[in-house]
Amino acid sequence: MRRITVFGATGSVGESTLDLISRREDVAVVALTGGRQVDRLAELARAHRAELVVTAYEECYRPLNAALAGSGIEVAAGPGAVVEAAYRPADWVMSAIVGAAGLAPGFAALSQGLILALANKESLVTAGPLLLAEARAHGATLLPVDSEHSAVFQALVGETIETVEEVTLTASGGGLRDWPLEKLAEATVTDAGNHPNWAMGQRITIDSATMFNKAMEVIEAREFFGLSPEQIRVLIHPQSLVHALVAFRDGGVLAHLGSPDMRHPIGYALNWPARAALPVARLDLAAAGRLDFFEVDPRRYPALGLARVVMQRGGAAGAVFNAAKEVALDHFIDGRIGFLDMAHAVEDTLERYESHGGLGIAPNSLQDVLDIDTAARRHAVEVIGAGYPAA
Ligand code: NAD
Ligand code: MG
Repeated sequence: MRRITVFGATGSVGESTLDLISRREDVAVVALTGGRQVDRLAELARAHRAELVVTAYEECYRPLNAALAGSGIEVAAGPGAVVEAAYRPADWVMSAIVGAAGLAPGFAALSQGLILALANKESLVTAGPLLLAEARAHGATLLPVDSEHSAVFQALVGETIETVEEVTLTASGGGLRDWPLEKLAEATVTDAGNHPNWAMGQRITIDSATMFNKAMEVIEAREFFGLSPEQIRVLIHPQSLVHALVAFRDGGVLAHLGSPDMRHPIGYALNWPARAALPVARLDLAAAGRLDFFEVDPRRYPALGLARVVMQRGGAAGAVFNAAKEVALDHFIDGRIGFLDMAHAVEDTLERYESHGGLGIAPNSLQDVLDIDTAARRHAVEVIGAGYPAA
């Protein structure tokens, strides 16, 4: 039996992970964690006969406990309980909490020397070097779940990173790709929350429209694969069928293609190093007809330029960038700033953080990362309060 824990079980990645797990008989579910979707969390816990189920919110304890009365499933609540779940003996753990909240549970899980399937991209953006060092120290294996990174990872099987010239991550361009530039400032949460190809959580869908998602992925790729910033390129590919391309020094390029279904990269990580059958739609290139690729217009997607700044600065920049992005996104979702203000807010927060203590000081521990995160959120709130009147 493989012992499996899923962090963020009620989310888009979490649900897909459990869908794959439900098709197997060799898996025992140790712990499932979620947020405020108490009923769904209880349903999943019963369906998978989890040992433990945890909500990140104290106030959800009672309803969750009530929903699981008589089931024999252990119930816990609060951020501390989420982290504790990571110490329950397991062999394979999915990290699919959204945001910086996913960092601590992932770190804790690594201490078991297990396989950590990493969907939470914030972990690598805010704490890449620390996370990789922690995995090494405990003999744990990190596997990428982001579709682009899984694609690169798969293209690199049997290769060495020294032979790689360039990696291209593809981007759909998000829900506003074809909007006129001058209309972007007026885009609403509904406009930005529609993704042309992927069904994902609300936050990552809006991050696709701004390309903050791709900006995070560029940083993620640099950290995970140890590439230089110049080796990572982004192309818009509206069909989302080619997920990444790896160009080698002999001029050969390996591309990874597939239907846009997260169950492929999740399943790859679940079965790794084997390749097992997966219930995803098969790619029909003749039906697709064509594969288009375009350069990214920096005026439309300023977030991507900010990723370059972050990689160039290093140190605390990744954690500041992520925190500022999360705060800006909260403000946009609440209707307090406009679509284009998100990138301005992140840029201004990076500058303000620099002038207050410096981006150059790299975090040395998980606690350092969390402290940078807290400070950067404060700066972001102040920057937004001063600079961007309600849209
Ligand atoms: P989602 O919003 O659908 O789900 C997030 C999960 O995290 C839910 O279970 C929620 O209850 C939980 N959660 C939210 N806030 C929490 C907190 N403070 N503490 C503990 N748990 C909390 O998100 P998603 O789309 O599944 O994405 C999850 C992660 O995977 C993100 O980091 C995202 O960038 C990454 N990712 C997602 C996709 C995708 O297709 N959805 C693809 C690649 C990477
Ligand atoms: Mg991705």
